[in-house]
Amino acid sequence: MNGRSPLFRLIALYCALLLLLGAAFAYFTMHSFAHYVRETTLRGVRARSIEIWHTARTSLTDGASLANLMELRFAPEAQYRYIRIAQGKSVFYESGIPPGTNLKQLRALGATVNSGELQFGSLVVVRRNFGARGRTITIDSGQSEEFAGGVEHDLLRSILFGLPVLLVLAALGGYVLMRRSLKPVEMMIDAAEAITFNDPGNRLPLAGTGDRIEILALALNRMLDRLDNAYQYANRFSADAAHELRTPLAIIRGELEFIAGQEIPESLREALRNTLSEVARLTELVEHLSLLSGAQILWGKHAHTNFDLFELAAETMEQMRLLADEKGLILEPISGSTAVVNGDRNRLKQVVVNLLDNAIKYTDPGGRIVVQVTADAHRARLILSDTGIGIAAEHHEDIFRRFFRVSTNRGETGSGLGLAIARSICSVHGGTIAVESDPRRGSTFRVELPLGSPQYARARKRKNTLV
Ligand code: ADP
Repeated sequence: MNGRSPLFRLIALYCALLLLLGAAFAYFTMHSFAHYVRETTLRGVRARSIEIWHTARTSLTDGASLANLMELRFAPEAQYRYIRIAQGKSVFYESGIPPGTNLKQLRALGATVNSGELQFGSLVVVRRNFGARGRTITIDSGQSEEFAGGVEHDLLRSILFGLPVLLVLAALGGYVLMRRSLKPVEMMIDAAEAITFNDPGNRLPLAGTGDRIEILALALNRMLDRLDNAYQYANRFSADAAHELRTPLAIIRGELEFIAGQEIPESLREALRNTLSEVARLTELVEHLSLLSGAQILWGKHAHTNFDLFELAAETMEQMRLLADEKGLILEPISGSTAVVNGDRNRLKQVVVNLLDNAIKYTDPGGRIVVQVTADAHRARLILSDTGIGIAAEHHEDIFRRFFRVSTNRGETGSGLGLAIARSICSVHGGTIAVESDPRRGSTFRVELPLGSPQYARARKRKNTLV
């Protein structure tokens, strides 16, 4: 479990509190129990000294019957009791000494006649003097605390054993309860991870508990609505602007091409060529803009089919091989295996084209481009590596932003929209695109897409094994 997570901290706090309360409870229980035992012992011992006197007063002179009476009536040894009946130094009866008694103290005080409550080690003694026919009889009635001490010991042991067990059970119970109460948050996290602006219907689930978590989900959903509106507005604006620009650009291009077909001086022809190439660049930019605005990305799921990403990549590489050859680059044969995905083949082809185009553009002659397509249980993967100029770590995320270009001072042309478009297309397909790059060693782009329908994949496999 993560030590910094609120769940862990809450449980740790709750256990610490429980431990503190448990320790306080154990202390007060033991203290009250010891007090109760002492009071009860003293009360019993006091009452017994009177009882001893009444039992013994008529048999004081007959030692054997006195001893017999005491044994029968009070069973001092078995009950950890102490009885001594004396007149001054002459002792009529004395029981055995219970364990835990401080014998030295007991003997030292044996001859005194002071009454009161005395303690000899663990032996509590109540000494009382009774008068009979002018004589003072001293009766010691004692009880060893060892007897109750055993019970106290058992109680302490139960508390010391029970408290950690209680703590562990409380921690486990607390963990289960908190996990359960945080379930709606987990669901919100999963839903939030899956939300894209291309599927405005997706919102955070409501737990229906009416608590603060549900209020948070409602507030986040309202915020998503507002963000969604802003996103749609920006997209519509780009789509409209691109649409409005397309026609005049086509006209300008047509007119320029018409002029180029006429007899014109060579100096004008050079300027015309430059203008035409700028118009071509502008037209490409407008096309990209219109694509990015979502007008074409959101073409709808009807364009989705199951197809093999491996085949698509292989076909695109063959079409672009000439470009790589012209620049003196080595485009290695594709490796990997069939990976069936579901999506718009043309759009996903555009992702491969953009990545290959960049790899060719940003790799020096003699460099190498390697493409691999693989699939695991859930995802198809396209990995494209080059030995080009690479991208500094601080730009790894920036390059997927619209219009971002790393300045290379090498004269490569581009709009800075290719990777932004690639990311939009991947995200519409529920996939991802990421880069690993080192300015000294080149770049690796990794595209991941969910696998397409299994029936198609099985059919493809059968076909491949038949061939
Ligand atoms: P552009 O039209 O400029 O190529 P992209 O969006 O395709 O736009 O790429 C954004 C920037 O990322 C590029 O300007 C370039 O600096 C960098 N880049 C993309 N691919 C590579 C690559 N394979 N090697 C090095 N840099 C790259």
